[in-house]
Order: sequence, then structure tokens, then C-alpha cells
Amino acid sequence: MLYKSTRCGVKNINFKDAVMMGLAPDGGLIVPEFIPRLLPQELAKKDFKSIAFEIYKKYIADIEEKDIFELIEKSYSTFDDCEITPIKHFDDLYVLELFHGPTYAFKDIALQFLGNLFEYILSQNNQTLNILGATSGDTGSAAIYGLKGKRNVKVFILYPNNAISPMQELQMCDIDDDNIFPIAVNGTFDDCQYIIKEIFKDIAFKEKYSLGSINSINFARILAQITYYYYAYTKVNHPIAFSVPTGNFGDIFAGYLAMSMGLPIDRLILATNENDILYRFVNFGVYSKQSVKKTLSPSMDIQIASNFERYIYYLYNQDCQKVKDLMKKFECDGVLEFKEDMEKIHRDFSAYRISDEEILQTIKEFYEKYDYIIDPHTACGVRAAFNEARQCVCLSTAHPAKFVDAIKQAIGKEPDLPDGLSKLSTKKRKFIEDNSVEAIKHFIQQHA
Ligand SMILES: *Cc1c(COP(=O)(O)O)cnc(C)c1O
Repeated sequence: MLYKSTRCGVKNINFKDAVMMGLAPDGGLIVPEFIPRLLPQELAKKDFKSIAFEIYKKYIADIEEKDIFELIEKSYSTFDDCEITPIKHFDDLYVLELFHGPTYAFKDIALQFLGNLFEYILSQNNQTLNILGATSGDTGSAAIYGLKGKRNVKVFILYPNNAISPMQELQMCDIDDDNIFPIAVNGTFDDCQYIIKEIFKDIAFKEKYSLGSINSINFARILAQITYYYYAYTKVNHPIAFSVPTGNFGDIFAGYLAMSMGLPIDRLILATNENDILYRFVNFGVYSKQSVKKTLSPSMDIQIASNFERYIYYLYNQDCQKVKDLMKKFECDGVLEFKEDMEKIHRDFSAYRISDEEILQTIKEFYEKYDYIIDPHTACGVRAAFNEARQCVCLSTAHPAKFVDAIKQAIGKEPDLPDGLSKLSTKKRKFIEDNSVEAIKHFIQQHA
């Protein structure tokens, strides 16, 4: 399998180069040259890791099978449930628990794998890498847990000092490994993002320190997320819809790929919170950005969905020139229209926008009916599935204990803390810096 860019500027690169590249130099996203077929009949009775192996083999031609197998073993041995992504059944709904990794959110499924993959490729190529990222909470800790203790890679994660939840801060700082640098910036999340952008713009600096990023556009992250759609299907064993709490369109795009590979998915139900750009796209054929609102499901507080471009690429039959033109137009006007394509879009997707009030209501209803606590992100998906009134697998993207305040507001009590969260104790490694590009550059110079 070879890879190329959605904007025509890159083609015929292998998987390892695609992983190290992240974003393509033409600004496009990396996609496989074709979508391989994999029918679920070939996977009957296989466990999660074996299913992952069958999927990864189709997409990775330049890593030996025994090494792929080892990477999978290593990546999913950190999960606290032997099924990795266990599925629970409640009447017409299945809840697919994707939060059994070290940071209790679904991003672990991709980032545990990506961390091992980076280490593997770097040591083969005799390279080093310094990951630089900004987080408003969850992604940072998943990246840190994916890369802590790994050879040849250091991780610098910026976050706004005193502006993320204490639990999120503890998760990032209760780390002994000296390749991890959580940096509390005296400023806002926007300041953090601004600093990162400016540093990446300084090409000489970027090259000198081999800076890389770990955001959700890396194709390896998408690949790792195809696994649980297949896994869930083998448990349910008939065509079924999936409801997906969506922010950057990464998780649901993995579902779209699974469907395109031949998995009988009835329909993909896209659930947004009040940041509803994708809801408006699916229902009205307009993709236009608005300002970001703070909600009870903060990991979905996103306006520009960075993986959306991959879907556009397939919507237009892999026409990279068309994608390139469209994205240029979007950068210019901030709006794209898809009115002619509604029929095609509706064949695959329906979409619902869930308010904070509905999130609280859904958590409460589900708890009262089933004595089971869902987190605010999962609640968006569950609510969307209720609206759709059909049998559905709801992806549960975070453990409720990560969002204690919302749960308390919904049901009047706190969820039990899982071991890994209750054991977090003292802040061990935390670095405080000013919100200036120079301060962060200086920090990297000293520690890279
Ligand atoms: C990141 C995240 C999402 C959204 O996933 P996307 O791939 O960005 O659409 C949903 N829920 C939680 C808990 C997350 O951390």
C-alpha cells in the first residue's frame, strides 16, 4: 500500500514516511492510494488484537508482519480490560467502551499505537524527534502516555496554566519519565496554539530540533480507529448503525473507511455539541465556521474539523485537484457549499446537534434506566441515537470520572474513580513559562 496527499502534492510514499510526515507539505492530508477490502466474515471469533492485525496488514506494506504484531501487542497491553474495547448492551443500544486505556479516553487507542510506531521508525532510521503540541486537556495526556519512556523522542506539551481541570493537569504531570515536558503557559489555550504555530513557521528552528506534531491528522491515528468498528461488528453480528460523538471528524472518518472497506454499517450518526459545523454540513450542505463555544463536552469544542478534508476527497471520487481548489476557496471565504451532493451525503450520514441541557438530561435518563453512567461526550452520541430510533452502537469516548462536574450536575453524585485516576497524587514534573514564543523556544533549546 502506498499513500498520497488529498491535494495532489505528494504521491507514492510508503506507510512509514506517511506517519513521519503527518501533514503533507502541500497542506493536504495523507490518504491511502486505494481502500482495501476486508469482510467481517474473515474475522469471526477473533479477538481485538487479531482484528487489528488483519486491518493493519492491509495498510502497512513496509513493516514486517511480526513487527506489526509486536507493535499491536505492546500498544494494547496497557489497557485495563482484556477485551480492550468491551461492548455493553442496553435494549436497542450498544455502548462500545473505548476508554480502557491509560488516560481513560478513546484517543489512547490511536496514541498508544502511534507512540510505539514512532519509537520503532525512529530507531530504525537512527533519528530523533521532538513532539510539540498544545492541549486544552485530553489530547495532551493521551500523547504523553503514548510517548512517555520512549527512546529517541521528547514531548513538549503546552497548556494554559490554571485553566484545565485539576485531574487533567495531574494526568499530565504525574509522570516520572524525563522525556516528557508538560509546560504550563501563563496565558490562554489560544496563546498556546499561537506559540506553536509561530514556532512551526520558523523552518530553521523546526529542522534544527526535528520538531514534529501529534495531532489527529496523522493517518496512523485513523488506521488505529478502524479496529473497534470491526470489533463491535463481530460482537453484534448484523448490519447496524454507529453513533459517534464528533469534533475533528477523526473517529467518524475511521467509521467511514470501515464502511468503505466492506463492513456492513447501516449508517453513521454524527453527533455534535453546540459547536455544530458538521451538523450544519450534513443537514444543510453548508460548511462554514463560527466561533467556538465552551460546552460540557470540551473535547468536541471544535469548529474546523481537521479530518473533514479526507471525507471531501472521497465525496469527490478522489479528485485531488478539486479538493485543492475547494480548500483554497475555504481558506479565502470560510464557506463551502455542498447542495448538489446532499443525496450522497445522506446515504452515509445523519447528524444531530446536542445542547448542554440535552447532555445532562441524557446522562440522567440513562443512569436512572440502566444504572450506568455515561460521560458528556458519549451522551451526545446516545442522544443522537435516541433521535434516530434504530438499533445502534454508540461509541463511548471517555470515562465519566474524567468529567466529574458534569456528572454531578446531571445525577447529583460523583462517579467512582478508576484506579489509574484515584492513584494520581502529586504533581511531579511541571514547568511554568511565560506566554511568549521566545520563552518556549528557549525552553526547547535547553531540553531537546
Ligand atoms: C477527541 C474526542 C472526541 C472527538 O473525536 P474526533 O475524532 O475529534 O471527532 C470525542 N470525545 C472525546 C472524549 C474526545 O477526547
